Amino acid sequence: MTAHTPLRGIDALVAQGLVVPGRREALEAVAERYAVSVTPAIAALIDPSDAADPIARQFIPDTAELLTLPQEMADPIGDEAHSPVEGVVHRYPDRALLKLVHACPVYCRFCFRREMVGPGGASLAGEKLDAVLAYLASRPEIWEVIMTGGDPFILSARRVRDVAKRLAAIPHIKVTRWHTRVPVVDPERVTADYARALRVPGKASYIAIHANHPREFTPAARAAIARLADAGHVLLSQSVLLRGVNADIETLAALMRAFVENRVKPYYLHHPDLAPGTSHFRLSLAEGQALVKSLRGHLSGLCQPTYILDIPGGAGKIPIGPSFLSGCEMPGAEAQAEDRFGTQHSYPPA
Ligand SMILES: *Cc1c(COP(=O)(O)O)cnc(C)c1O
Ligand code: SF4
Repeated sequence: MTAHTPLRGIDALVAQGLVVPGRREALEAVAERYAVSVTPAIAALIDPSDAADPIARQFIPDTAELLTLPQEMADPIGDEAHSPVEGVVHRYPDRALLKLVHACPVYCRFCFRREMVGPGGASLAGEKLDAVLAYLASRPEIWEVIMTGGDPFILSARRVRDVAKRLAAIPHIKVTRWHTRVPVVDPERVTADYARALRVPGKASYIAIHANHPREFTPAARAAIARLADAGHVLLSQSVLLRGVNADIETLAALMRAFVENRVKPYYLHHPDLAPGTSHFRLSLAEGQALVKSLRGHLSGLCQPTYILDIPGGAGKIPIGPSFLSGCEMPGAEAQAEDRFGTQHSYPPA
């Protein structure tokens, strides 16, 4: 096993001291149901002596995953209903998701696509990729293409360069966006050459970096993120609000500041989806709103993400942040605006 081989399966986690041998059997049942993989960079971040370690909680399987609630769904955000060709999800007219791969370097225990992602399975190539590009070229309303998966950054530089170039040849596509966790979980993969391969002249390139805890910003992760920024990508954040990981104001504030310090503009903070076996991660919408309200009260405007709910079943994403304004629905009525100390101020009708 080389230094870069991920730990796949419970035996490998036991061998590394990340799972105590007594839990092997119970966790094997979880691994049979949902894929397991932990990269060396993440393994090095875990403190096995801390039973509540927020990094371990995201990546080390837990028997709580064997509990599936009736409201949890295999396809919580309804991707399947909007897939015109294999590998494409086209729900919003102006943008399409491209699922290039099913695999990830790590398998997050709260993943909303956990029934779809996993090792094996072919990446989108050959005739299938041709069909996807033909679809994108045939729909002039598609202004943006979002590469997701799985994690598209597990593809080689040659493969991502090929996809970027072929997208760039379609005139109505003005923006490419890559969603990835690799800069944090396997930072060495993101070389300067790789960062350049993702970009093509004449199109704007955005990269949404998934991280959930400030400790994920190791020196190596910071350097990888810097290589992406230096190559000219605009960097955005993507996080999931998770009980036991980041659902407290200190951690959430430190996470958002870590993004901004690394030139990553906070974009979305997702309320956890109703993925099977993830109820131990979920908090209430009211708890989430209180945290987001507190962020607004304490942190720079640069550090404010949009709090998002993907409506179960496929109705799409909506912002669910707290409102600071009330009483403006009635024509001619005064509105009440709440400041960061909770004091109400009236605002006159137009
Ligand atoms: C989340 C998502 C997008 C991207 O949404 P933005 O609000 O633009 O970030 C696009 N297509 C699908 C199907 C999605 O689920
Ligand atoms: S990296 Fe993304 S797609 Fe992969 S397991 Fe984690 S949340 Fe799911």
